[in-house]
Amino acid sequence: MFRKILIANRGEIACRVIETAKRLGIATVAVYSEADRGSLHVGLADEAYFLGPAPAEESYLNGQRIVEIARDTGAEAIHPGYGFLSESADFADEVAAANLTFIGPPPDAIRAMGEKDAAKRLMEQAGVPVVPGYHGADQDDETLAREAERTGYPLLIKAVAGGGGKGMRLVEKAQAFMDGLAGARREATAAFGDGRVLIEKFVERPRHIEIQVFADTHGHTLHLFERDCSLQRRQQKVIEESPAPGMTEALRDKMGAAAVAAARATNYVGAGTVEFIADASKGLSPDHFYFIEMNTRLQVEHPVTEMITGLDLVEWQLRVAAGEPLPRRQEALQVTGHAVEARVYAEDPDRDFMPATGVVTHLRLPPEDNGVRIDCGLQEGEAVTPHYDPMIAKVIAWAPDRGTALARLGGALRSFEVVGCVTNIEFLRTLVEHPAFSDGAVDTGFIARHREDLAAHAEVPNEALALAALYQLLPTKPVVRRADPFSPWSRCQGWRVWGGARQFIHVAAPSGLREVVATFDPDGVIGLELADWHCKVRSLRREGTRVRLDLGDHILCASVVGEEGRVTVFLDGAAYRFGLPDQLAGEPDAAFLDNRVVAPLPGRISAISIAEGENIRAGQPLVLLEAMKMEHTLVAPGDGVVERITCAKGDQVEEGAALVILAGSEKG
Ligand code: ADP
Ligand code: ADP
Ligand code: MG
Repeated sequence: MFRKILIANRGEIACRVIETAKRLGIATVAVYSEADRGSLHVGLADEAYFLGPAPAEESYLNGQRIVEIARDTGAEAIHPGYGFLSESADFADEVAAANLTFIGPPPDAIRAMGEKDAAKRLMEQAGVPVVPGYHGADQDDETLAREAERTGYPLLIKAVAGGGGKGMRLVEKAQAFMDGLAGARREATAAFGDGRVLIEKFVERPRHIEIQVFADTHGHTLHLFERDCSLQRRQQKVIEESPAPGMTEALRDKMGAAAVAAARATNYVGAGTVEFIADASKGLSPDHFYFIEMNTRLQVEHPVTEMITGLDLVEWQLRVAAGEPLPRRQEALQVTGHAVEARVYAEDPDRDFMPATGVVTHLRLPPEDNGVRIDCGLQEGEAVTPHYDPMIAKVIAWAPDRGTALARLGGALRSFEVVGCVTNIEFLRTLVEHPAFSDGAVDTGFIARHREDLAAHAEVPNEALALAALYQLLPTKPVVRRADPFSPWSRCQGWRVWGGARQFIHVAAPSGLREVVATFDPDGVIGLELADWHCKVRSLRREGTRVRLDLGDHILCASVVGEEGRVTVFLDGAAYRFGLPDQLAGEPDAAFLDNRVVAPLPGRISAISIAEGENIRAGQPLVLLEAMKMEHTLVAPGDGVVERITCAKGDQVEEGAALVILAGSEKG
């Protein structure tokens, strides 16, 4: 076994690899960019070395520098994690040329699967079923249009060099083909420097079911069962589980055998995933699944497999790379219970899942017990930047049965708190608790189909408003009666009373400014009144950001996190953000009340689809922004008129820059 390894990655996967290395007594070397000086993975490793500026091209993709660091520090092997250099055959070659071990498959296997078109040709030869379509070399517009016609609609245009959903377009009908082709080429060129595409029939009622494979250098290849990753947005996974709902022994055997055949066809070594699309229009069947691609690396969702098999896949990777045989044989593997993972992203589900950025000023992870595992690479105070993937953490839950695993996952998501950037936590929780998902009625159209049910609450509950108002009454330092900081606050003295027994507090909610009237009884009870609701607070206990209010007939528990001019209330699994106007000046927080459409990320304006003076409807596309190598459509927040357009096509814009000013718009 190796004595020391270098981890050429960041975030949760770097932490994950370091953890196993530590358990096996292997010393670890981390690398980091300018943006990651203070990151978790840097602190966890035994040594850490600087790579360069934040952009990945100048840091985590600088293979030469990484190999140098490995040599200088005496590391014997390099683990690439996922993303970055993990699927770069050239990097694997460089590592080998420096007499180091690449913890991954042989470069030829990476090459064979690296381009989706060549991979599909290879699979056809190996007798693995592939999706009908076109994967030829001729990239002429006319040829592609003709092949699209032959394939039939709906279809997918995919980047040959694709990954991470980039350069992919779903085209419903022939009229939209040329637009789709242009978009796919543009995105593929920006992301991979390669605009070649292929065409695939869009499989009906598609379910994404993938098989984890492993091979060693002693001629053994096996599979570790399936993962169902059908819950997707933007053609990318958000929830993964194993076993797949409705999986039969016959189908599992057939898919497992196909995946093993795919791995053998490339003389595979190490961990890999063979991805299939199953046509579930008539239920899962052994005759309706097709190869789409093989990922020649460890997958984001590998913990799901670890939890149903009780194995450590990173340990297997290390053992295989060190030349040991696979620790188990196929017959000795079995599925125990059910595991499900949710990916927590900095992204806005209400704006087509657009990635978000920001400094995470408050981070509270769910407890890791009762079958729940959290893989997180971020710490409080760190930023989600536009430079890297916006995933914050993975929450994985295991239980003997699916229903309990989903319930545990939902419970964990309810207690996950993030302040500082928009997240998909509430969306994930709603998804996990959706009755159709509990029934196992999954396919990749699930999220789009249930969009209405999954949208964030338009209504802010009165309790959340009351908590935001109460927060404003707190003195800067809570006044406590005893030395015990968690004892009930001394009644009236604990509050900031500006005078009089009646006070008007303003809270800026997304729908507008709201007023809460607070009254102070002589016995210490505080009354809170909204337009058509009121409550009496008999006492309040606070432990850090957690608060517990006694409302007479029930107890209200929540988390209240204040920042400069803002407060976030976590209540019943949802987060509500409020602006805090200065009570004395009475000025509301402008950010909540303005009519500007701003750039959520730094990027380039690729199209503007409205004109000044035009009437617009809520949800109408306004501007196309290219950011983080993908195109994002910015839509109208409400009905109104375009007053002014403050950007032009081709402009490079900063995060937060106003792009369009609207008149008469109501935020929806
Ligand atoms: P998985 O299939 O393991 O879920 P994803 O497709 O989500 O993996 O990709 C894992 C990570 O690697 C993500 O950060 C994704 O953006 C990145 N990634 C995957 N493939 C590529 C690629 N070809 N080029 C750049 N980044 C990629
Ligand atoms: P990437 O390299 O970005 O992961 P994939 O080829 O794996 O791209 O496809 C990503 C997702 O797109 C799949 O998980 C699936 O949801 C959807 N998809 C891919 N091919 C098809 C298809 N032929 N029919 C229906 N959906 C598909
Ligand atoms: Mg894929």
